[in-house]
Amino acid sequence: MTARCVRSVSGSLQLLLRNRWPKVYGAATCSQKHTYTSIPPPAQYGGRHTVTLIPGDGIGPELANHVRELFRFCCVPVDFEVVNVDSTMASEDDINNAIMAIRRNGVALKGNLETNHNLPPSYKSRNNLLRTTLDLYANVMHCQSLPGVRTRHRNIDIMIIRENTEGEYSSLEHENVPGVVECLKIITRTKSLRIADYAFRTAREKGRTRVTAVHKANIMKLGDGLFLECCKEVASGYPEITFDSMIVDNTTMQLVSRPQQFDVMVMPNLYGNVVSNVCAGLVGGPGLVPGANYGEDYAVFETGTRNTGKSIANTNTANPTAMLLASCLLLDHLKLHAYANMIRRAILSTVTETRLHTADLGGQGSTSEVVQSIMKAVESTGPRTLSL
Ligand code: ATP
Repeated sequence: MTARCVRSVSGSLQLLLRNRWPKVYGAATCSQKHTYTSIPPPAQYGGRHTVTLIPGDGIGPELANHVRELFRFCCVPVDFEVVNVDSTMASEDDINNAIMAIRRNGVALKGNLETNHNLPPSYKSRNNLLRTTLDLYANVMHCQSLPGVRTRHRNIDIMIIRENTEGEYSSLEHENVPGVVECLKIITRTKSLRIADYAFRTAREKGRTRVTAVHKANIMKLGDGLFLECCKEVASGYPEITFDSMIVDNTTMQLVSRPQQFDVMVMPNLYGNVVSNVCAGLVGGPGLVPGANYGEDYAVFETGTRNTGKSIANTNTANPTAMLLASCLLLDHLKLHAYANMIRRAILSTVTETRLHTADLGGQGSTSEVVQSIMKAVESTGPRTLSL
């Protein structure tokens, strides 16, 4: 695509249609008038969006490259500003640069950054630093059964809303008396109300009917008790949505025995981590489910279970689905819905083909074979999807 041809989002979408499907849309000339009914919204910086890309560790860099390859193939009007973060560095300069880049661009796609447990306590999780500094308070993960992926349970459709900035992740641990470690779990009324409201708003927007708060208020009467009270308070403002609550231990048991009973779930940080992983496992594993972190000002997209997958890095065996679906959430966030729908549809049609399954799904397909077949699916389904 020439620089002249990418003046605007609608211009580049138009060009994509004409280049890929000239018989349907006519040969591409940049001067022709745009006549489609679904017009993406105005983009930034001369018609293109700039998005921060943090490749991260393990399988992150190779998956990030596949996203870039796919976006190029689909003529998505997004330019990535790549910011590498060296998670072995003691200094926080790298992560601060990444945070600055996200502040500039407003949105990021990231691979997970490894946290080395052997480093001293002063060395904080870079992932957590990024989420708290940018106040990305809501982690959202949509776990859905996928056709073609064999799992014990079918018809799962759960939205997990996890508080992302406090709870047990406050990094406040002390060993003032040798052999006695104290660890603070922070629960505040302000942040509990904020995440509860986010969950109910999401439920309303998505036409969901039930929100379940997950807690351990029978034991943590003050902390989780406050969280639960805040959820109840917010629930009263959403009379059309049923509210209930469940203790976290029972929740995990219910999830593995009858997951279909859950709709939207809201919970503090650590329970969110556990429940997200259980739910990802229920629908096929960490290679399938995307995740999003939203704040008032910024959004960061990544795989739902935030694995580095270092043991399978550079083997061309990682399942790219979760990261590619995360990139579709990013496109939705940029209101590039036509591109998001086109790519998502191609990903999902590829997942249904068991011969292409990667090792995590019991198959022998490679990462690059999956990506190639997604590109083929884009070519064959594109026009139908784009004429939304
Ligand atoms: P180790 O495998 O040594 O425990 P890891 O860093 O690979 O370390 P995690 O990143 O926590 O482990 O991932 C948990 C498991 O999920 C691993 O077995 C990993 O290989 C697998 N996994 C994570 N992401 C993917 C993916 N995209 N495709 C396939 N398998 C994945």
